[in-house]
Amino acid sequence: MSKLEMDDTIAAVATPAGEGGIAVIRVSGPAAFDSVQPFFMSHEKNSLKDRPSNTVVWGKFLDASGAPVDQVLVSIFRAPQSYTGQDVIEISCHGGFAITKKILGILLSKNVRHAEPGEFTRRAFLNGKIDLTQAEAVLDLIHAKSGRSLEIAIRQLSGSLSRALKTLKDDLVRLLAHMEAYLDFPEEDLEIDVKNGMQEQFTRIREKIRQLLAGFSRNQLIREGILVTIAGKPNVGKSSLFNALLERDRALVSDMPHTTRDPLEEALEIRGFYLRLRDTAGLVPGPGHPLDKMGMDRALEALRESDIVLYVVDGSLPLDLSDRHVYENIPLEKKVIAIVNKSDLPAGAGAKDLQALTGEKPRIPLSARTREGFKELEETIACFLEEETSETGEQITKLRHKNSLESALVALESAEKSFREKMSLEFVTPDLRAALEAMKELTGEVYSEDLLDVIFSEFCIGK
Ligand code: GDP
Repeated sequence: MSKLEMDDTIAAVATPAGEGGIAVIRVSGPAAFDSVQPFFMSHEKNSLKDRPSNTVVWGKFLDASGAPVDQVLVSIFRAPQSYTGQDVIEISCHGGFAITKKILGILLSKNVRHAEPGEFTRRAFLNGKIDLTQAEAVLDLIHAKSGRSLEIAIRQLSGSLSRALKTLKDDLVRLLAHMEAYLDFPEEDLEIDVKNGMQEQFTRIREKIRQLLAGFSRNQLIREGILVTIAGKPNVGKSSLFNALLERDRALVSDMPHTTRDPLEEALEIRGFYLRLRDTAGLVPGPGHPLDKMGMDRALEALRESDIVLYVVDGSLPLDLSDRHVYENIPLEKKVIAIVNKSDLPAGAGAKDLQALTGEKPRIPLSARTREGFKELEETIACFLEEETSETGEQITKLRHKNSLESALVALESAEKSFREKMSLEFVTPDLRAALEAMKELTGEVYSEDLLDVIFSEFCIGK
């Protein structure tokens, strides 16, 4: 996207294409009122321009010949109290493809052009209505796949991350100012409590940055989905469990072993967490058919990638070598839940062996057929995830945030090292300034057009 001007007026359909109860067409810019007024007729005497901000008027939208196109509600948001900080008009019309196309077509003229993806939010950022992390939260909110990711996006949009980052930046500014005040002093002449004070500030800022960075991987789990792999030897009921968890027949279930060769993946939500559930080919020891071998290689790969493994055994049979083989292939660091399937059948003699094999790992008797034990399984998964994602204050959500914070940390640590090594303060401050710059890039106080292009190109048109 080229450098976008802010002094022209843009319009776009803000709701998804297709049929629906209503659709919204958004217009933002200095000509917002003038571009809508000629095509809007209501019983109100006042023209749109004379009406108070944040009000809604019912009326008819007309075409250039004065013929009615639709009955609409027009919402008025006057600058600067609007989403973009400019004059904004939102036209709520009936939600049909032809209607929205027609209304937008009438509005687009030499004074109004079609908005680029994310351009409304980009204007909100450029007008100082939101900072960059909040703009990114808008996108996260739209893309949120579970209650948890929604919660984080809402919090970030309301500015809680922005405030935490601002405090961090203010701390850095204070430390820098503090140092600059003593720049002319040789290190030996600094009083001991001044030195201690500076050291404390270093420690506080460093720890805060580290905390935010530590939250990143937890957060990624919540946003991008937790990979849960179902593993076991053939015929223990992996596909039945997969289907039962998804509550539909996605994986092929059969009495014939090796029905699943490629790992299947489906999304599901458990207690507000977004999971990517994978069914894999049954693992057996020794060489087999080349196709089975491929399926097993993929299953092993899925095991390595997964965050949680559901290790399934057939509870109606004794534990055998194949069961042990599967367990031995689960990487040690994985969270494992042992599922003792087919609890609707009389129990086999494998319970003790399974306990010896899996030790402290949770074991859940369950029936993929009757759904007995499902509640307990969901609780155990949720419990794992609560632990994994338990919050410690504000959380960063993007790789961009992580990179900026890492740059800030590297610069800060270098400044701290020079300070500890009693170097003259003039050698300490350039690194502190670099840390500050990285923080400003994070919040968008310093930005490049290229960075904005990357961020906003991910948005849909109309947002
Ligand atoms: P996979 O090879 O591990 O994916 O196993 P499947 O899901 O294809 O199931 C193998 C066989 O076990 C099928 O005949 C299923 O109907 C049966 N099965 C799966 N789960 C249960 C269960 O909980 N109870 C009983 N009685 N049979 C089950």
